[in-house]
Amino acid sequence: MFALRFEYRFEAAHRFTKTESIPCMTPHGHTWKAALAIKSPQPLNSCEMVEEFGVLKKDWKQFLTAIADHSFFHHAEDPILPALWQHVPSFRSLPFPGDPTTEMIAACFLKKAYAMGIGKTLSRFEHSLRQQRLENDFQMTMEIFETPTNSIALDPKNLEVLEKFVPSFSDFEGWWEDPAVDARWIRRRDKKAQSGRPTAVLVTT
Ligand SMILES: [Zn+2]
Repeated sequence: MFALRFEYRFEAAHRFTKTESIPCMTPHGHTWKAALAIKSPQPLNSCEMVEEFGVLKKDWKQFLTAIADHSFFHHAEDPILPALWQHVPSFRSLPFPGDPTTEMIAACFLKKAYAMGIGKTLSRFEHSLRQQRLENDFQMTMEIFETPTNSIALDPKNLEVLEKFVPSFSDFEGWWEDPAVDARWIRRRDKKAQSGRPTAVLVTT
């Protein structure tokens, strides 16, 4: 079995709402690295490859560069958001169903990678794999580096655990009452992560 892995660096800010640590509650940035590994049970193709890296990486790279890079990762209900939206209406943000810890980012990014169908070209033999009961061998692992030496790695089993203990993780939608605001980026196939500012915040005095 082959495992393909690719890494990307991106810059993003975050802050925590449930901490006593002043550095952690202060909006601050990191140079993050996301490493996505894909295990494929399928044999090599006629070019003696599992798949071209460029094909596998294209959508994921676009998500990271267009959405995650130079964004503010925040708890979906972070109380500082209304002030930010009022003074910087177009700031780039990415909401999370909890504090955007490295663990949370890894989990949401792994879920997003599955939702986007990253590696879907490796499932050409999906039917036969199912017959062979090998479908579980197609597996992605996400590792997020907060610093060059600190990282969190997750596989789908961790997602199941997270869904048990963080209810909002599995039902992350409608965090603002405004239906025009779609924060379901984690489960969407496209590369957008529209977070926008809720209409309610626009009506300020
Ligand atoms: Zn930090």
